[in-house]
Amino acid sequence: MKCPYCGYIESRVTDSRDQGGSIHRRRRCEHCHQRFSTVEHVVLPELMVVKRDGRREPFKREKIETGLRRACQKRPIPVGELEAIEDDIENELYKLGKAEIETRIIGEMLMERLRKLDDIAYLRFASVYRSYPDIQAMRQELDQLIQGAPNGKKATTAPAEE
Ligand SMILES: [Zn+2]
Repeated sequence: MKCPYCGYIESRVTDSRDQGGSIHRRRRCEHCHQRFSTVEHVVLPELMVVKRDGRREPFKREKIETGLRRACQKRPIPVGELEAIEDDIENELYKLGKAEIETRIIGEMLMERLRKLDDIAYLRFASVYRSYPDIQAMRQELDQLIQGAPNGKKATTAPAEE
């Protein structure tokens, strides 16, 4: 990094602070001895999302956030939980190391986590995302949810009469 005062290329780092997402360094030019700061950021490779119609767009974490918030509206879910899911999915996506990811895969990742978090939020998301062809298909999903409900949630749901 060139000194902004004299353009000399060598500088000495006098202080370095890691602030999580970035590292701030204080530098001193070895030629004119002026001080200046630099900030270092992690740059993630660009990840493209392939939509159902084949169009591509850059991955945006905010889209996951919007989907999650919509599904979880008025549900008793602490805000931190949603952020944790966003972090989790983002990490997992980048760990795949692919340049392109289908929206379907992101949708499945979201549903998997919502299913563990909150049944109603899961169903809301799934009903939009899977766009069930008919009420029967939705009923099947509901039945599976009720049968597979963990932590005795089943007991709080009235059993369906057959
Ligand atoms: Zn200088």
